Amino acid sequence: MAEQYFEMLWDCPQCATPELLGTTHRHCPTCGAAQDPARRYFPKPGAEVEASGHRFVGVDWTCTYCTSPNSAAAAFCGNCGGPKDGAKTAAIVPDNAPAPVPSAPVQSAISPKSKFSWARFVLAMGVLACVVLAFLFFSKHDESVQLVEKTWSRSVDVEQFSAVRSSDWCDAMPPDAYQVSRSREQRSTRQVPAGQDCIDVRSDMGDGSFTKRRECTPRYRNEPVFDTKCSYFINRWRLLRTDRLAGAANLAPNWPSPLLANTLLPANSLGAQRLGSRQENYRITVQSKQGKSWHCDLSPDVWSGLAENQALYLKVRGTGGADCASLKTQP
Ligand SMILES: [Zn+2]
Ligand SMILES: [Zn+2]
Repeated sequence: MAEQYFEMLWDCPQCATPELLGTTHRHCPTCGAAQDPARRYFPKPGAEVEASGHRFVGVDWTCTYCTSPNSAAAAFCGNCGGPKDGAKTAAIVPDNAPAPVPSAPVQSAISPKSKFSWARFVLAMGVLACVVLAFLFFSKHDESVQLVEKTWSRSVDVEQFSAVRSSDWCDAMPPDAYQVSRSREQRSTRQVPAGQDCIDVRSDMGDGSFTKRRECTPRYRNEPVFDTKCSYFINRWRLLRTDRLAGAANLAPNWPSPLLANTLLPANSLGAQRLGSRQENYRITVQSKQGKSWHCDLSPDVWSGLAENQALYLKVRGTGGADCASLKTQP
């Protein structure tokens, strides 16, 4: 199939006659001005005029003497007879380029520079704030403090073997699930083809004509994917309660001893109880001469080695927090 050509348009810069045809009107039919290839533009979509019978022989050349555009096949200017030698080829207009405007665009009254420097100012302040915070966090000073309070707490979890309600996709259901009920639910979405989006890409041939090429990209839509959801019961050890003991320096740390019910039931039968995990916490409160106080959670050994009213050194960050690992006894 032969390539189809359409007319590029140009407006006469001398008498303002609009929408002259690129291949047909090499000169303005009203005033005779020569066509300037650099001022060619694409017509609005739907307003294209076919250049019937046009054959592409190459990009136009612009006469050095009279600026007329000439066909690549011509060796001499059709207007003034000047030779082709050394002549420049016509400019190619990119698609979606705006039509040339006769007068220079008016300069915007608002300088874009003032907006730009505001953005820079805000950015600079943000960076400065980050630097100051980082400096305060990493800068530490020794604070002379006194230990004012020692506390401890110990807790033990109690677990019970219970029937737990749960749900999963049926292909991921544990094998010991029971009383299963099933339902259809959306599990995911998949993309299915739904036609294509096409646009015309136009190419300036540089000789007053242009060609069109259709470019298409596939379009997709989301479609729900359904699967079977299982609701079920399953027997598992679950946290029933947490027993806790707490005290100060006058009471030695001790573990709670929870009372378990149903201890005569065989293991792994519903209602059976057992001890779960244990947690312990050892905390001191220290105070500076200015009355500022800090908490530190310590290991049991370090905690038991300290006495109330003892004088200590503690490193304090510029941001106010204490570095508890730096705690030292004063000689
Ligand atoms: Zn004209
Ligand atoms: Zn010429």
